Amino acid sequence: MIIDGKEIAKQIRQELRDKVSALLSEGKRAPRLGIVIVGHNPASETYVANKMKACAEVGIEAVRIAYEDTISEAQLLQEVENLNADNSIDGFIVQLPLPAHISEQHITSAIDYRKDVDGLTPENVGRTAQGLPSIVSATPRGIRELLARYNIPTDGKHIVVIGRSNIVGKPMASLLMQKHEHGNATVTLCHSHTVHLKEICLSADIIIVAVGHPGLLTEDMVSQGVTVIDVGITRVEDPTSPKGYRICGDVDFENVAPKCAYITPVPGGVGPMTIVSLLQNTLAAYEHIR
Ligand code: NAD
Repeated sequence: MIIDGKEIAKQIRQELRDKVSALLSEGKRAPRLGIVIVGHNPASETYVANKMKACAEVGIEAVRIAYEDTISEAQLLQEVENLNADNSIDGFIVQLPLPAHISEQHITSAIDYRKDVDGLTPENVGRTAQGLPSIVSATPRGIRELLARYNIPTDGKHIVVIGRSNIVGKPMASLLMQKHEHGNATVTLCHSHTVHLKEICLSADIIIVAVGHPGLLTEDMVSQGVTVIDVGITRVEDPTSPKGYRICGDVDFENVAPKCAYITPVPGGVGPMTIVSLLQNTLAAYEHIR
């Protein structure tokens, strides 16, 4: 069965729209998200525009806060402090990457974890690891939502996560091992230094791949009945496509899919869930995670 991330994202957007209009009809203000962008990186401009549009669709107010790439780290840290103190902003993100003279680690760590709707602060990551209420980064949150909404059990299952990035692999593993209805899994985290990746994957009930190498997960690495979640997004040249490229995941979809109980396509699987999770996190920040 192919997991339809677009459809689930659409359902969640409707649920969010209903929640925001209920807030407004109670006389409350709409949730408000700040989106900080530094410089004019074209990919970042596109991501920010998509996030603004997604907010508008559900009634979340998005405020674009743009700085030239000449801003110093100290000035940007001050802007983060101002947003932390601004009661009219429920949550905010700083679009990455930042110019080379600014430490992403310094900026991210300065965000008040209650407003950190990207879930990247050490505090939110630590709170997730300890099973405390936290804001979870968007992609892992979206994947857990997909598993939950497709009634794919995780309790007692062996879940193999491939990739150990701070935005996907590590928080994904941390989330799935928690004592939680949609956790309680036995998690193996694999990465570029893992030996016997194939043997580890063959014992998995669920495999989540977040590497960025098209075709990494092949048919011989998966058992019959496995669930495969493909996070990878790589542009591959394709002269037959009008754009000159196509988007590929990390899974050899054609040969792996016949062995799967469930599998996500790329595009249309995990991708649509990521922005919707940011909207859910904004609502959570509005309702105050403590
Ligand atoms: P990354 O690019 O920071 O790191 C890649 C990870 O893969 C590393 O942890 C590395 O150890 C591991 N790795 C590399 N080669 C490996 C190998 N041969 N075997 C096992 N592990 C190996 O990771 P990222 O930022 O999580 O991105 C991974 C992919 O997911 C990229 O294609 C990215 O574009 C995509 N992504 C998609 C979404 C989405 O919304 N669908 C969100 C974030 C990232």
